[in-house]
Amino acid sequence: MKQLMAANWKMYKTWNQARDTASELAQNIRGQLPENREVLIFPPFTALKGVAEALQNEPGMAAGAQNMYPAAEGAFTGEISPDMLLDVGASWVLTGHSERRHVLGEDNAFVGRKTAFALNNNLNVILCIGELIEERRADRVEEVLSEQLEAGLAEIPVGLTSDSLVIAYEPVWAIGTGEVAGPDEIATTHTFVRKKIEELLPSIASEISILYGGSVKPDNISAIMTLDNVDGVLVGGASLTAESFSKIVLA
Ligand code: PGA
Repeated sequence: MKQLMAANWKMYKTWNQARDTASELAQNIRGQLPENREVLIFPPFTALKGVAEALQNEPGMAAGAQNMYPAAEGAFTGEISPDMLLDVGASWVLTGHSERRHVLGEDNAFVGRKTAFALNNNLNVILCIGELIEERRADRVEEVLSEQLEAGLAEIPVGLTSDSLVIAYEPVWAIGTGEVAGPDEIATTHTFVRKKIEELLPSIASEISILYGGSVKPDNISAIMTLDNVDGVLVGGASLTAESFSKIVLA
């Protein structure tokens, strides 16, 4: 199974800062990345080209965008199309991140449209899913994740290969809070996600990487990576310095 270590830089870093951090990270990990492991960096749009250029000759490293709009072009003020992302060297995009769902108001159907449009237009996708704390307390985790997966994957292209799609499970209450989900919670939920994608995408589900996200740090990464059905991580805060993220990447 392919392992992915992904850095989500959110709305942090200028063009110069992003390029410098990407170069420093590449230098720190060069020649040490296990063969089945890839590193992805998701900087803000304005820094994408700089990061993509810093990574272009680095084996196992690539750049992606945090968002895109599901149309080829048109009157969509402030939005960015898949072709524009490919043009600056991005090969991946995040869809359904909890901040886009809960701060920017994206619903399941829109996340599904974006996921399908990105995949149909040559981008690889990390589809993010996760429950709110009140949903976990109400014992609704499986229901919420099922809805997010069913809608998120509803329109994906026929013949999709497992290389182009990754699922990231990020409990919303663990994102940016310092509160990491417990090992049992992570393992149980990842096993549920695997079962659900086996139902939705039977021919490729066993090869799809499932990442964990939510307060991943250098000191908890090793324990998280040993859990069942955890094939990598999506990291926010602890990915912002090359020093911290290289420890995660090489754990
Ligand atoms: P965090 O963010 O690592 O800062 O909790 C994770 C994410 O939002 O992808």
